[in-house]
Amino acid sequence: MNEAHPSTNPRPKFQGRSDFARELRAAVEKALAGADKRHTGGWRIALKSLIVFAWAVGAYLTLILWASSWWLVLLCMLALVLGVAAIGFNVQHDGGHHSYSSRGFANRLAALSLDVVGGSSYVWHHKHNILHHTYPNISGYDDDLEAAPFLRLAYHQRRHWFHRFQHFYAWLIYGGLSIKWQLFDDFWAVIRGRIGQHRMPRPRRIQLAFFVLGKLLFYGWALALPLILHPVHVVLPLYLLCAGLLGIVLAVVFQLAHCVDQARLLEMPSGDKPIPRGFFEHQLDTTVNFANRNIVATWYLGGLNYQIEHHLFPRVSHINYPLIAPVVRAVCDRHGVAYRETPSICGALASHWRFLKRLGRGMQLEAGAAAS
Ligand SMILES: [Zn+2]
Repeated sequence: MNEAHPSTNPRPKFQGRSDFARELRAAVEKALAGADKRHTGGWRIALKSLIVFAWAVGAYLTLILWASSWWLVLLCMLALVLGVAAIGFNVQHDGGHHSYSSRGFANRLAALSLDVVGGSSYVWHHKHNILHHTYPNISGYDDDLEAAPFLRLAYHQRRHWFHRFQHFYAWLIYGGLSIKWQLFDDFWAVIRGRIGQHRMPRPRRIQLAFFVLGKLLFYGWALALPLILHPVHVVLPLYLLCAGLLGIVLAVVFQLAHCVDQARLLEMPSGDKPIPRGFFEHQLDTTVNFANRNIVATWYLGGLNYQIEHHLFPRVSHINYPLIAPVVRAVCDRHGVAYRETPSICGALASHWRFLKRLGRGMQLEAGAAAS
């Protein structure tokens, strides 16, 4: 359980825009224009969407209709989990940030894919686009740091004796968090009109209709249809296993960008003081890229291994991140701003392990705590 949360109203502001931010923005715009690129994903993201949807639907139909041996069931489950995660990484995330297409309708449709696979695009918008993207790694504001009392992911969260072992058991907790998200968290956020301590306007009319229809559709394909075709003692364990695996995949990928030893964790300044740094500088202080030269990871993760570029320019599609990354790095170098990167997935996993271990034992991260 957290200790006293900071006030949530009004939301704190960052310092005004710096020369660094102006130059960064201009350099990235020039790179996108010069290469005749659009901010959005174009045909490449449309093709990718077809591939990941065909992957997930193919795995699902094989699982519920034709898989008769245990090894084929396990194979289809794994393919389904990775396919659903790929929809989240590559389609929903860009749609939610309006970078999927220049057409609003296509972005909305892509964002709604989250409702089909068990989440709520409405709650996600407030939790991810507003709280996480504005205040990454700021305790009490970034909801991605909230897994108390099971995990301690920020300095001001209370430390319990069992956190000493959190680097061993966190991976299982991530699986449980996904099941909790699908079955409980979205409903609780809508009923309370809050995410954590932060107000969220309750969905109304069309938003509420999409919320309810999305949940019905998800429970329809994930539980009701399999229960018509198979006994409950087969369906329920397989559902829990799939949802758990999905949670581990999603949480680990997101944690590798922020909850790592090289990223900084902050607390909000007290009173009405502004955050003592610019918005762009804060994103670079709290975000780490990983495995940028791994073409399979870059394709599959939908740019979530390029989180620096994503946090600086969330309205640019992930398709363009490898193009703008060298530009971002060059501007950072010119201004002496740290551009943090881990070369491999294994290195990033080890860094997350160290993050959990240090927080669980009450130690500072390697990056230390930025002044607030
Ligand atoms: Zn995002």
